[in-house]
Amino acid sequence: MTTLIEGGTVITMGAENRVISPGGVVIEGTDVIKVGPLEKLRSEYSSAEVLDARKKIIIPSLVNIHHHLYSTFARGFAPPEEPARNFTQILENLWWKLDRALFREAIYLSAAVPLMESLRHGVTAVIDHHESQSYQIGSLDEIKRAVEEAGMRAVLCLGASDRFDRGERGVVENERMLRKESENVMGMVGLHASFTVNDDTLKRSVQLAEEFNTGIHVHCAEDGSDQEKTRRMYSKEVVERFRDAGVLGEKSLLIHCIHISDREMEMIRESGTSVAHNPESNMNNAVGYAPVLRMYNSGIDVGIGTDGMSSDMLSQARCAFLIARHQERDPTVGFSEIPAMLLENNPRILNKITGWDYGEISEGGRADIAILDYSPATPLTADNLYGHLLFGMVSSFVDTTISGGRIVMRHGKITVFDEEEIYAASRETAEKVWERIK
Ligand SMILES: [Zn+2]
Repeated sequence: MTTLIEGGTVITMGAENRVISPGGVVIEGTDVIKVGPLEKLRSEYSSAEVLDARKKIIIPSLVNIHHHLYSTFARGFAPPEEPARNFTQILENLWWKLDRALFREAIYLSAAVPLMESLRHGVTAVIDHHESQSYQIGSLDEIKRAVEEAGMRAVLCLGASDRFDRGERGVVENERMLRKESENVMGMVGLHASFTVNDDTLKRSVQLAEEFNTGIHVHCAEDGSDQEKTRRMYSKEVVERFRDAGVLGEKSLLIHCIHISDREMEMIRESGTSVAHNPESNMNNAVGYAPVLRMYNSGIDVGIGTDGMSSDMLSQARCAFLIARHQERDPTVGFSEIPAMLLENNPRILNKITGWDYGEISEGGRADIAILDYSPATPLTADNLYGHLLFGMVSSFVDTTISGGRIVMRHGKITVFDEEEIYAASRETAEKVWERIK
């Protein structure tokens, strides 16, 4: 089937970075076969099915490089203990209790909800980091099922951890998923964090990554306590321990990197390891500000993730932009770096891990597209795109989302799930999960 998206303004991004208005995109099967001025495409493809995107903005769909789909049931949940006073208590009182309360159907629903919400925000590819200590073996199958139903693409892993002496099962689950990879779902080797992973689990995970030619997805120096505990237990800095074990490399992804030394930053750069910055989560947990601009300017591939806080990449990028200026006390920084992290680095990091191409609407490329209901109040060009992105498009609604040529949300309606049914089932299941925590 051939579909003509009638724009609107097409922003191709990528090397050509063209802004075409009024423009159009022709999709055949899974791919884009033509991009150009609308008038020309209309006469050339007069029999194509038309998708109306007039007065709208057509951009490549977005990529989230660090999510925790399982975090859904934390919304509105009040841990029974006193309020957490530090990062360790946040983990112990909320996250480690929540992930131990999950069961098979809860894992599926907790993934389906944020995947739908990703589609609502024009996101069609996610790198997820899962935890469910009580139900590890088979847990990634539930998420895989939800991803495939959503028509999206994802990289899945379980954050193996020895905090409850179950590290081995986590490694086994990662291996299981690596053996079950499909066209749209790939595996990766997940670890929770240095301070919860013993040397044996670390070693086995590195061997597994080598065997499957993939990387390791792990939290890194999110809080000062990760560094303190790692130094105490292993007499090394976190990144140093990872480097010595063979964790670092082109396909590996370190999350946060807030409390790292200059020496560790150099190890990350030298190894080609990517970093995911999650500003909303860092602010919420009060764990500090990651030196993202320094990492970015040193040549490290720094991208942006949501860390389970939301599935909205545009608002996450705006938050990254504002906290960078606030923290650096410098109104000249961030304007080019932060949008580039989202639009260029996120697709590049995903490509390093999977080989998938995102971040550009190009002829012959896969049709991964988001259509935003945004009418620019001032001229929009390739040169001022970032200004529109951070101060305008971020507040607009996504009208339509296309993943691999499939319209997964059409004019605000999710086509791949019965949205209300999923939310209703999720509410019902959340009560069961909460009951297991108390
Ligand atoms: Zn995380």
